Amino acid sequence: MYTFGRLLWRARAVPRRYIAGRRPPPVDADHDLEEILANNKRWVAATNAADPTFFPKLAEGQNPQFLYVGCSDSRLVPNDMLGLGLGNLFVHRNVANLVVASDLNFLSVLTYAVDHLNVKHVLVTGHYDCGGVRAAMKNRGLGVLDGWLTNIRDVSRLHKAELEAIDDFEQRHRRLVELNVVEQCLNVYKTAVVQRKRLETHGDPDIAFAYPRIHGLVFDPAEGVLKKLPIDYTKQIAELGAIYDLFDWDQDHYMLRKTSRLPSRLPRATKE
Ligand code: ZN
Repeated sequence: MYTFGRLLWRARAVPRRYIAGRRPPPVDADHDLEEILANNKRWVAATNAADPTFFPKLAEGQNPQFLYVGCSDSRLVPNDMLGLGLGNLFVHRNVANLVVASDLNFLSVLTYAVDHLNVKHVLVTGHYDCGGVRAAMKNRGLGVLDGWLTNIRDVSRLHKAELEAIDDFEQRHRRLVELNVVEQCLNVYKTAVVQRKRLETHGDPDIAFAYPRIHGLVFDPAEGVLKKLPIDYTKQIAELGAIYDLFDWDQDHYMLRKTSRLPSRLPRATKE
């Protein structure tokens, strides 16, 4: 039983509308934001102290040579992992680093990176202990996530025999992370924007190699190590080119050299 004084104190301390339990009591929602804005101020001050030309140079624009396609996992900090400063890495992230042919967001990023920023490399980067990959290994619906995770389940189906031969769940998860990266690399290769750019840049004496090149990487949060997956594109393209090539190499490459533009019809892919 409350005394009258204590009841009066509670009435002052808690607004009436919260007593009924319809809403939670107010919290200092701005506190976290204030903290990160203060962090930003300290970072700006430290950066200016170390290099007064840093931000003026950053304001001149970006010139990234790499497009990073990675998972949204908060343990991955692409610029730090790769040792690249601001302005040197164009980034696209989603759950489990997927490359989905109908994803307008990804296709917009890829087109901008390849056609306008002229990036030379696409880095598809997965990571062990990936929550998205783990979720796709379980027979449990997760609502709106299910459609997205189906893309990983499709990777499991494509590599069913290899994955089922691995008894240990953790080892199977690690292998699925790697196979998922390989399949997403192939998905990048399947896009018209990448195939067209590689056709345009192949055989040009002023260009060292046909680009963009596509690389599959896996990060291990337990060690901080990033490793490159061995992907034999020559073999993959030989096997899959008849299905996914959008350009006719000989005919379209000849036409490109002669007229500096590709025919309007859809062509077949380039070789490395
Ligand atoms: Zn992940």
